[in-house]
Formats: sequence, structure tokens, C-alpha cells
Amino acid sequence: ALTAGIVGLPNVGKSTLFNAITKAGAESANYPFCTIDPNVGIVEVPDHRLDKLTELVQPKKTVPTTFEFTDIAGIVKGASKGEGLGNKFLSHIRQVDAICQVVRCFADDNITHVSGKVDPIADIETINLELILADLESVEKRIVRVQKLAKQKDKEALIEHDILVKLKDAFENEKPARAVEFTDEQMKIVKGLHLLTTKPVLYVANVGEDEIAEPDNNEYVQQVREFAEKDNAEVIVVCAKIEEEIAELDEEEKAMFLDELGIEESGLDQLIRAAYSLLGLATYFTAGVQEVRAWTFRRGMKAPECAGIIHTDFERGFIRAETVSYDDLVAGGNMNAAKEAGKVRLEGKEYIVKDGDVIHFRFNV
Ligand code: GDP
Repeated sequence: ALTAGIVGLPNVGKSTLFNAITKAGAESANYPFCTIDPNVGIVEVPDHRLDKLTELVQPKKTVPTTFEFTDIAGIVKGASKGEGLGNKFLSHIRQVDAICQVVRCFADDNITHVSGKVDPIADIETINLELILADLESVEKRIVRVQKLAKQKDKEALIEHDILVKLKDAFENEKPARAVEFTDEQMKIVKGLHLLTTKPVLYVANVGEDEIAEPDNNEYVQQVREFAEKDNAEVIVVCAKIEEEIAELDEEEKAMFLDELGIEESGLDQLIRAAYSLLGLATYFTAGVQEVRAWTFRRGMKAPECAGIIHTDFERGFIRAETVSYDDLVAGGNMNAAKEAGKVRLEGKEYIVKDGDVIHFRFNV
């Protein structure tokens, strides 16, 4: 499964946030056969559509889909030079598919800040620079290898060489690989380099308990937003400490608490949805009387592949996907009404599944 890594400098609230994630965690009863890595937190993906479908279909049970976060401890300034847990840290980042960077935006004199004062932009730049320097080193090494091949007029080596030089130039100007423009063809080669700064990023602004209702009064949050806009990245505001408390509540208590705080959705729920979509993930539903269930797929997947997420037999014997969009189903009120309104389509092998599709797969056994 795709996973998002939680990173950040020491004392910004990573462990607190990760605690909230594991406490909120999806029931481990759903994973009877796996041992879960202690650095991985599995959460349910909040989706109001699933509640609505449950209301319409009244199934015996409802199963949300899940998402994984990985806790990546140990970045400090100098990580790319092996400081602290430097190399280990970088190899852990290499294994995740997206980066959620926690940034300290809360002022609390009792909690030491590694560089002496709260300065979210300096913190972000410190981390981003470490990742860029690590990538610079990989690219420089690769250039030496490719240059030898390029001398022998190896055509592919020449193409790669140009890409590497372009990347090196960006890194030397402290720009991440994701800011460099490439054609689709070039992008395939770039992906093969397994760089750190090609991974999509979102920033998690960790604010104080008293600021969560009006986070934009916090000047640090403003700064992070401005920075993120230049980086084409999203910002999610959380108060990690409050999230830790929320994670212990049941649904009803949670709703009351959020209401008291004056917020509609918990920061963690927002983070889960943002990370999910950052990774290019989307949800389709199956809605039978036995079970209403949400399934995660990658955007762009075709119907048979999506069927295979449920069971390999579904993919192998795929015939058709009886499909209705969530909106059309809700508008109709039930499956029969949607059918009568002509909203239920019989889609074939080439159909690209959309977020919110409610699907009944037909297959040969
Ligand atoms: P990490 O080193 O990034 O994992 O940071 P921790 O999660 O251990 O947090 C460092 C300290 O900051 C702990 O004492 C936390 O209780 C505190 N802390 C974390 N989040 C918040 C917050 O939102 N508000 C306040 N006031 N303190 C926080």
C-alpha cells in the first residue's frame, strides 16, 4: 500500500501527531494476519458518502477504507552528511510515497526549539535542503556513470545525461526535483532515479490549543501558507495535542468536542484526506445488503484492475462493471430508481473508474 511519511525537526509535534494517528487507528481486528510495523499507523479514511450509502442501503455492516502513515524520526540539520540518524532517516524517506512535513507554529516557552526560536520557514528550508543535498549527491554520482556511457555515444545515456544536468542545476539552486519541468518521456527516467524531492509534499502546521478555531490569526500559519503556495503544496492546520485527545473519543463525543472548539472537521481527518489525495488515491464503493464498503484505488485505474482490489478472481473473470455515480444514486434514492432513470451504466474493460463510483462487478468464476 502507498504510505505517507511524517517528517519534521525535533520538538515540532511529530510524535504527538503520530500518537493521535495510532490511537485513532483502524481496528487491528481487521488485520488478523499482519504484524504491523510500530512506525506505521493505519487509519480509516473519513468519508461522509459511506455514511450516506449506509443510510440508503441499511447493510449488515459498513467497512471504510484505510490509509497508512509512517513515522519517520530523526531528521536534523546535516542529515545528508550523516548527522544524527541522517542516512537511516533518508533511507526511510526513500520508502514512502509522499511526505507530510510537520512544522511548529505553536509558541510555548516550555518547549525548546532546536534552533532557539519558532521560525517555520527556516525549519521547512532546513529539511528541504537536506533532501535536496541528498538528491544532489545521488545525481552527481549518476552523472559520472552516465558520462562514461555517453562518451560511447550511447543514445539513452545522452538523454539521461541531459536530465541529470538539469536536475543538478536545480539542486544547486536549492530547488526540489518536483519544481523542474519534464516531458512525460523524461519523467519516466526521473522516476527511475528514486529521488527524495520528486515525492509530493504537504505541510502540517501545528498550532497551539487556543488557536485552532482561528488558525489564520497565527502569523506562522500565514508564513507557511505563503511558502506552500510557491511550492504548489497544500497546508493542513492541526493542533497535535488536541488531536491526541480527540483520538480517544467515540464518534458522538468527538462531534461535541469539535463543536465546542468551533471546527467542522478534526485536523487529523483533514490530513488523512489530503494525504490520500496527494498520493493520487481515490475511492469507489460496493453497496450490497450484506456490506457497504469503500475501496481505495489509484486514479487512472481501469475497471478490471479495480475489481482485482477486491479479489483476483474478480479481475481474471471480469465481464462488466455495473456502475452508478454516488451523486446519481443518492439523487435516485436507491439502485432501482437510479436504473429506471438510466443512470446505471454497464462499463467494460477499458472503463477508467472515477472517484465516488458505486460498482457491482460481474465476473465469471
Ligand atoms: P517531536 O520531537 O517532533 O516528535 O515532538 P513531540 O510530539 O514529542 O512534541 C514536543 C513537545 O511539544 C511535547 O512536549 C509536546 O507535548 C509538545 N507539543 C506538541 N504539539 C503541541 C501543540 O500543539 N501545542 C503545544 N502547546 N505543545 C505541543
